[in-house]
Amino acid sequence: MALTLFTRRPAPTPAAPPAARPDTWPEIGETWKPEGVTVVERYYNQANAVVLFYTAAREYDYAIACLGCHFTATRETIRGYQGWYTLEDVATVANDHATTCRALPRDIPARPDDDAVRDRLKKWAAGCRRQDEDVQLRIQHLDLMRLTLQRSNGWIENALQQLADGHPDIVIAKPSKYSGGHTEFYARCS
Ligand SMILES: [Zn+2]
Repeated sequence: MALTLFTRRPAPTPAAPPAARPDTWPEIGETWKPEGVTVVERYYNQANAVVLFYTAAREYDYAIACLGCHFTATRETIRGYQGWYTLEDVATVANDHATTCRALPRDIPARPDDDAVRDRLKKWAAGCRRQDEDVQLRIQHLDLMRLTLQRSNGWIENALQQLADGHPDIVIAKPSKYSGGHTEFYARCS
């Protein structure tokens, strides 16, 4: 008799309502496209935080950032010197970090307002000054800051020009010796 219990068709049950999704899902960087950088690849660390590498000032220069802990790296920190390296190199470093890092996802950086970005650029330029010579300000040296600056190369160059106009004691603009018409920016010697 017990067998009939199992062969009996079960009473129909109403379909469960679809699980409610919150209107805004927390953004941990899975689809984040911060202004001014091109995200090339993303990995997940051991706690599902995103580790990504990206290009910013130049398409052949890569920077790595973990959106869990605060690990960052560029070509210089990976190899210890400036020089060419392969996409595989940078992918390996990002992947190695992702397989060992256990930091939880932190909030992705909010886009700062224009004044805040200009202020950071001014402080950066002032910090680059040397006593004996003008130091060229290359925007590729901002690569590690680009996830928090969130501005295009053109915007940053424009801001440097404004700094040169408004604070010639800190930044000066000079025409490039090598490519006609291009402007180079220097932290003025103090
Ligand atoms: Zn990490």
